[in-house]
Amino acid sequence: MSGRGWLTIIGLLTLNFISSAWAANAIKSVRMWPSPERTRVVFDMKETPKFSYFSLKNPERFVVDFKSTVDKTALEKLKNSSDLIKRVRYSKPKYKGSTRVVFDLKEVVQPIVFALAPTAPYGDRLVVDFMKEAPEEVITRGMDTERNVIIAIDAGHGGEDPGSIGHNGVYEKRVTLSVAKRLTALLNQQKGFEAFMVRTGDYYVNLNRRTDIARKRKADLFVSIHADAFTSPQPRGAAVWVLSLRRANSEIGKWIEQREKHSELLGGAAEVIKDTQNEKYLARTLLDMSMDHSITTSYEVADEVLKSLKGVTRLHNRKPQAASLAVLKSPDIPSILVEIGFMSNPREAKNLASRKYQYRLAGAINQSIQRYFIKSPPAGTLLTKLKLRQHKVRSGESLSKLAQRYNVSVGKIKHANNLKSDLLYIGQVLDIPHS
Ligand SMILES: [Zn+2]
Repeated sequence: MSGRGWLTIIGLLTLNFISSAWAANAIKSVRMWPSPERTRVVFDMKETPKFSYFSLKNPERFVVDFKSTVDKTALEKLKNSSDLIKRVRYSKPKYKGSTRVVFDLKEVVQPIVFALAPTAPYGDRLVVDFMKEAPEEVITRGMDTERNVIIAIDAGHGGEDPGSIGHNGVYEKRVTLSVAKRLTALLNQQKGFEAFMVRTGDYYVNLNRRTDIARKRKADLFVSIHADAFTSPQPRGAAVWVLSLRRANSEIGKWIEQREKHSELLGGAAEVIKDTQNEKYLARTLLDMSMDHSITTSYEVADEVLKSLKGVTRLHNRKPQAASLAVLKSPDIPSILVEIGFMSNPREAKNLASRKYQYRLAGAINQSIQRYFIKSPPAGTLLTKLKLRQHKVRSGESLSKLAQRYNVSVGKIKHANNLKSDLLYIGQVLDIPHS
């Protein structure tokens, strides 16, 4: 063998050694978050991922190549309840030292792939979002029948976004989901109310999308549930936020420039009005009107919520706070954001983790929403016929007597007034719910 041949062999060995040393990255674990609108797959990486991807047809597949990466996770163990993905598997990579992941798909979907920087409790991640083609939801409402008051309940955070994390390891996203679930169930038990959850499970919904969902369902109120956190453990208590006038105005300005928003606001009228200036003017007028209404309503509901929460928790702020928050930006839907406590306060974090306490918070918010809408029912709703009934307790009266008189169960009266026992006192004012 000539001297040159030896050199080549050494050269190859060195290259081989370098290529395995290049595989500095690793897939540490994989998570899947299916939601009604999409399936998100998250790869936890050792370092910032370098990647490329492409689609294949017949059968439908989506391929992601992780450059210089070793696979340390068994994909067979991945819990898959997605209705878009049949299977996730490894395949032979094109380049040595890289890792190829193949998604076998159930239908044609165009995924979005992006890297996420580390945020506690997660490190570097690569996210693959498989979006479903959503059929436009059309909601028609009878003109002559009275409708329910529609409440959108938004559990903060979800999926890859845990929100704040308590010292006890409790995630804000779980607390908010549990309170939201309970609140939705309580409202749905009441005649004249119809509540729905903006996110129904452990997945993330984009902040703009949250208000879009509420708008599509024609919500009368949007309630976002959160738990606060601070850098020191002392702050505690609940607070309620409403959209600030300044933010509402700047959102309106943006909407006026978006023609597709006009048709949402003006309905068929936008198609008829051919003159753009007139259309802008009408959209502006409508938005100003609905902004006035939604800001006033937001403040009034927020006040009621604080009144009720006072019975369960201490208040961090006794008055509603105005803020420019991403989820609170609809000038057209009355919206509030309830911070139910501080995850950074050890005592509150412990409370917030308990089911019993979560239910008490949900109970208080439910009561205040009902109180507000029974007092000020939107036109055309069933509630305009169900007046707020109150009863001042006199000597000799009992819960069972009142239940008989108003033809409603003892349980419902207790529930509506947050009563823990059957004891009444003279002069006590009770809200009497409708059966
Ligand atoms: Zn939050």
